[in-house]
Amino acid sequence: MSLANGRHSLAIPGPSVMPDRVLRAMHRPAPNIYTGPLVEMTHTIVADLKRVARTEQNVAMYIANGHGAWEAALVNVLSRGDKVLVLATGRFCVGWGEMAAKMGVEVETLDFGKRSDIDLAQVEEALRADKGHAYKAVLAVQVDTSTSVLNDIKGLRGVMNAAGHPGLLMVDCIACLGCDRFEMDEWGVDVMVAGCQKGLMTPPGMAFVYFSEKADAARETADLVTHYWDWRPRVNPEEFYKYFDGTAPTHHLYGLREALDMIFEEGLEAVWARHTTLAQALWAAFETWGASGPVELNIADPAKRSHAVTAVRVTAPLGTELRTWLTEHAGVTLGIGLGMASDADPGGDGFFRVGHMGHVNAQMMMGVLGTIQAGLAALDIPYSAEGLSAAAAVISKA
Ligand SMILES: *Cc1c(COP(=O)(O)O)cnc(C)c1O
Repeated sequence: MSLANGRHSLAIPGPSVMPDRVLRAMHRPAPNIYTGPLVEMTHTIVADLKRVARTEQNVAMYIANGHGAWEAALVNVLSRGDKVLVLATGRFCVGWGEMAAKMGVEVETLDFGKRSDIDLAQVEEALRADKGHAYKAVLAVQVDTSTSVLNDIKGLRGVMNAAGHPGLLMVDCIACLGCDRFEMDEWGVDVMVAGCQKGLMTPPGMAFVYFSEKADAARETADLVTHYWDWRPRVNPEEFYKYFDGTAPTHHLYGLREALDMIFEEGLEAVWARHTTLAQALWAAFETWGASGPVELNIADPAKRSHAVTAVRVTAPLGTELRTWLTEHAGVTLGIGLGMASDADPGGDGFFRVGHMGHVNAQMMMGVLGTIQAGLAALDIPYSAEGLSAAAAVISKA
């Protein structure tokens, strides 16, 4: 028998749950793109995108997914033959580096594995060793969505300063903008990339590249920049169509406006706090279940875990079996184990991820957790009881 035929719950790390308010805001006829409300509204979106990232600097918008933002960020500051330092803590920063390499950029990688954050001491050593300042930029992800590690971006700026290194600090916040605290100006980030479909609760299709004055100075000499990806015409354009170098993503703009309204109605600090508590509830359940049996959080240190996504180890093939059971029998879809394949587990079947970014509340979290426990029981995967009680205790005390 299947018990899946109610409202399906999608708990993958992007696209995230789309609020009904956002969907309703998008359900409208095509607007005029030359003058009128859409034009005025878009200016307010730019201002609020800066508020979400805690910056008074620049943001360029693109019709693209996260990969588009990656490319836009790279081409605006780099030239063929430039060198960058990639700080790998999972699949995503590796992917950003591979994209740079395809453009003719020389990529050096410090790999911290799949269960750790960036080791700042090691980064400082590498930067001090770069006496000629060959690294034009340091590339990092704040939250690597494959491992669910949260990197210390403020600390990364700290070691770049300590080493006296002039490279640009470039950060991927695609998974966690609007979920985990991020302070672009205070932390000294030069370039930040984000998408609309995770913490910003809007259907995939818009991407954002934030940049500092220092990064814009690098744009002056970057020989990789092309007409479409150039960030300059997209910032404070005199003509509306230059925001997107062509037709605007009209309906996404209405959706995004609504999503930003929801964030600021709640308050950005309150949104971060909600994500923190819900993540702690989730961790409490997994830690309790895992006291006996194979269930284990991928990142051991709570201070280094994202509040937007959680990667779980459960040994192959139980991760895939559990995901399949949950979708087919219980109406919940979890994220696959991404970038976790190994010789012993070529399919990455020993992992799954829970997305808890954006439009999530206590009821949704308890629902996902309760259903996971049913799946563990159904598949005879050993676990310690009281995981749900541990999660409920975190929520009850919030
Ligand atoms: C989702 C994600 C990406 C890729 O975004 P797409 O929209 O799928 O191109 C890149 N980096 C991180 C950290 C992500 O979470």
